[in-house]
Amino acid sequence: MPELPEVETVRRTLEKLIVGQKIMDVRMRYPKIVQTDVETFQKTLKGQVIHTIERQGKHLILLLDHDALIIHLRMEGRFFYHPSHHPLTKHDHLVFELSSGYNLIYHDTRKFGTMHLYDLKDYKNQPPLVHVGPEPKDIEVSQFISHVQKRKTEIKAILLDQHAISGLGNIYVDETLFRARIHPTRLGSSLSDQEIKTIVFQAQDVLEEATLQGGTTIRTFEPMDGVHGRFQQELAVHTHVGKPCPICHTPIIKIKVKGRGTYVCPTCQH
Ligand SMILES: [Zn+2]
Repeated sequence: MPELPEVETVRRTLEKLIVGQKIMDVRMRYPKIVQTDVETFQKTLKGQVIHTIERQGKHLILLLDHDALIIHLRMEGRFFYHPSHHPLTKHDHLVFELSSGYNLIYHDTRKFGTMHLYDLKDYKNQPPLVHVGPEPKDIEVSQFISHVQKRKTEIKAILLDQHAISGLGNIYVDETLFRARIHPTRLGSSLSDQEIKTIVFQAQDVLEEATLQGGTTIRTFEPMDGVHGRFQQELAVHTHVGKPCPICHTPIIKIKVKGRGTYVCPTCQH
């Protein structure tokens, strides 16, 4: 699943390829990806220029002449950028025909990805973005502390839920909690101010390092632009079941938290 650093890598790659181009037409082969009325979607996009690409949490936002196209890749969504004569495959669901003669193709084997189209004036006040909290680097720490301490839910679940803090998925929550030395099943209400501050700072570091390295599992974009995530090599606990903890050498264990595979050092994390 692409996480924030991977989505940021996709954003930067797309920015180089498609900004400044006009959308000549949109072909929809699996319209359920689109959450806006399909006919309006197609008609509205046609003829608009892509001016910038922003990101909020794991949402990509294409800012056009009059509208904002908000894309979430979910589990397996990815983009291809091919000349228009390039043959399409089974899982190529949407084709944006661009003024350069290239197609931007949305490919998704699981079909969980979503696209919303809103007027530029109020896309931030509409779902999904209205429900997306600030990223760790932008968060108001005192507000976040009081939010967490009110919750009788595992800290891992609070961090994965994108309302109070956004951009942390399964991999980076495990790495953040390991660095903060906090056990993922601790309840929000049990955490001290200092522990929550440590979580926020470690989350900032983890995401920043991962973004610098292009993320962890880059399958989100075809490697035509040389995008390879290198953060994989930096992971301390995630997927490391049975391997020694880099700090105390205790074997890392795997548990489930709210159904998600979770990797923990049973000695370092309390
Ligand atoms: Zn350890």
